[in-house]
Amino acid sequence: MTQKPSLSGVPLRELEIVLSPLPRYRAGQVFAWINSGLDSFQEMNNLPFALRRELDGRFSLRKTTLVKKFEDEGNLKLQIAVSGGMVEAVILVDRAGRRTACLSTQLGCAMGCVFCRTGLMGLVRNLDSAEITEQFYHIRKFYPDIANIVFMGMGEPLLNLYELRRALEVLCRTMSPRRITVSTCGLVDGIEGLASEGPSVRLAVSITTAREELRRRLMPVSAANPLPRLKEALLRHQAQQRRRITLEAVLLGGINGGAEDAAAMSAFAEGLDVVVNLIPWNRVEGLRFEGRPLKEPEAAEIERFRSGLERLGLKTVIRRKKGRGISGACGQLGSTVDKDFDVNGTDTVAR
Ligand code: SF4
Repeated sequence: MTQKPSLSGVPLRELEIVLSPLPRYRAGQVFAWINSGLDSFQEMNNLPFALRRELDGRFSLRKTTLVKKFEDEGNLKLQIAVSGGMVEAVILVDRAGRRTACLSTQLGCAMGCVFCRTGLMGLVRNLDSAEITEQFYHIRKFYPDIANIVFMGMGEPLLNLYELRRALEVLCRTMSPRRITVSTCGLVDGIEGLASEGPSVRLAVSITTAREELRRRLMPVSAANPLPRLKEALLRHQAQQRRRITLEAVLLGGINGGAEDAAAMSAFAEGLDVVVNLIPWNRVEGLRFEGRPLKEPEAAEIERFRSGLERLGLKTVIRRKKGRGISGACGQLGSTVDKDFDVNGTDTVAR
């Protein structure tokens, strides 16, 4: 049986074409319902009954299925089945109680950063706009009050720019672009594409270290996107978009938190308006760097690096360790977990 085409994740201007010759206001009504998270045509109660039935016969509203929910101290991770595998979306809550939805853009990832569990999976495929936006709709069923969205889940968003842009066109109808951040491992072409053509969302770059030689060993992406070119792209992006950029540094115990790293970071940041987000690495079993197991940084090491950066004039934020119990922290997506909850919130497994 052939699958009905899905209308979720379809930007309004495309929906108007798909639904023509229906008048544009009807497309607007359908779009608003879909973007509110509704997954049934029957409930679109401002449409005539015959139209609801017709749409139901021609289209679907979901391409994905929520399979499991994992919970730890208010943080939540959802496993969502897509064709060919399982993607993960995470909700993180900060000290002020604000919730951020962390969404995935690819099934797996080809970038191979040595500290990342998703990188071990390799790339299966890009997600389409429906599969990206539906992560948000699944999340909102549990938490309607999401304050921010970050594209920092599985995959490299800028390698899926076409579908990411479509998803952003949809999501920006419900959330201000100022509250949406796209995080990249540093792809120069993608950053330049965002700078020149938008959309004008916030940008975060996973820099990890600004020592080129070390960065190449930790993040293979750096070979084709060296730091001088990355810096030029960021300068252009900032000149066009006029937004502060976040430099993310995943801190690996004993590897990238020394005085040399602080000095290199300061030199890299010169001329840019940035904040450095220090992310203490979360342990993932089996990840090694040049034959040695990776270690979590100690509290003193994190503090030393932070104060070193601040002395050099950089603004820093240390990311509170969040979502570790559910393997929902940075670099842990795609792994197994300690505690499983089914979608009804019942504790089902303790491995
Ligand atoms: S850190 Fe991001 S870009 Fe690097 S392997 Fe993991 S998901 Fe991919």
